[in-house]
Amino acid sequence: MNVMPNRMDRGFYKYQQEFENKALNVLRSGWYILGQELKSFESEFNSYITDKKDDEYCVGLASGLDALWIAFKLLDIKKGDEVIVQGNTYIASVMGITINDATPIFIEPDEYFAIDPDKIEEKISDKTRAILVTHLYGMASRMDKIIELCKKYNLKLVEDCAQSHGARSENKMTGSFGDVGCFSFYPSKNLGAFGDAGAVIVKNEELAEKFKMFRNYGSEKRYYNKVVGANSRLDEIQAGLLRVRLKHLDELNAEKIMLAENYSREIKNPEIVLPKTAPQTSSVWHQYVIRCEKRDKLINYLNDKNIGTIIHYPIPPHLSEAYKYLGLSKGSLPITEHLANTVLSIPIYNGMTELEQEYVIDAINSFR
Ligand SMILES: *Cc1c(COP(=O)(O)O)cnc(C)c1O
Repeated sequence: MNVMPNRMDRGFYKYQQEFENKALNVLRSGWYILGQELKSFESEFNSYITDKKDDEYCVGLASGLDALWIAFKLLDIKKGDEVIVQGNTYIASVMGITINDATPIFIEPDEYFAIDPDKIEEKISDKTRAILVTHLYGMASRMDKIIELCKKYNLKLVEDCAQSHGARSENKMTGSFGDVGCFSFYPSKNLGAFGDAGAVIVKNEELAEKFKMFRNYGSEKRYYNKVVGANSRLDEIQAGLLRVRLKHLDELNAEKIMLAENYSREIKNPEIVLPKTAPQTSSVWHQYVIRCEKRDKLINYLNDKNIGTIIHYPIPPHLSEAYKYLGLSKGSLPITEHLANTVLSIPIYNGMTELEQEYVIDAINSFR
């Protein structure tokens, strides 16, 4: 048996006819950018995340990174400003901040891989302008304390929901808490396109209009440019294919939740620490991330059995070459760094068979 870390083809073949029909329809329509598929997707995704509140809006963009950096830009966060972010996130979260020349202030994670709500306040300064929360691995973060801090210090709240489509905190969808909820639809995400795509969920029409203008060269009306913008449009084919996937998202998430429950019930090995969700939160299990002090030995052992794994992420942003200029040395975020040395994502994907999962479970349980 050979089990790969992910099998995106299975997600395609599950609804092959629907995807192919949609792609053909868009190809034959003669309209490929900023059309009806995008409008419909924005409205449907907004309903999915916000339970149809009419003072909230979705704007489609070209990627998750665009969602993040344009969010901070339109919230007027710039050079000299500080944004609080967890140390153990994907580097794109941090780039969303630093593309605007703002400074990331890293916070250590809690036992649920989330930003530790008890460690934020001590890092708030008179330069702090926003908190960025990443709902990492599909696990929703606890939001109550963070929302309180945002109110108390008048901070903007941005959510990185690139891994958490459909996850809930206190029964509210991730992406519906912040001033801006940022989503990626990169193919491997729980709601994946067949190319690059992203979106934001925002709280008022004015901000939504700013995003719509910014994504299209800063123009509302063709060739009348009000601001210097970007080209960050979510194209019609991707929007159409995302509408197909969105219809099935709850079912796809339910399958991953079941796979995660199987792992949590069946993996029994004193060398392995299993992931757990925080109280009052749910996970859509974008990844199933275990921890192991002998991680590198475990990777080789699983490799020998043809089981593929991935480390999310081996180098925390503050230690990456790109952020050398921040001057943070090894040891400055010990919990984050220890996670980077011990986490391992094991295979979990839509269409994973019972036999494949049993094979992975048996292999992990026999690891010594
Ligand atoms: C995937 C991802 C992004 C970036 O999304 P892209 O669409 O690849 O630009 C940002 N943050 C997190 C946490 C991600 O997982």
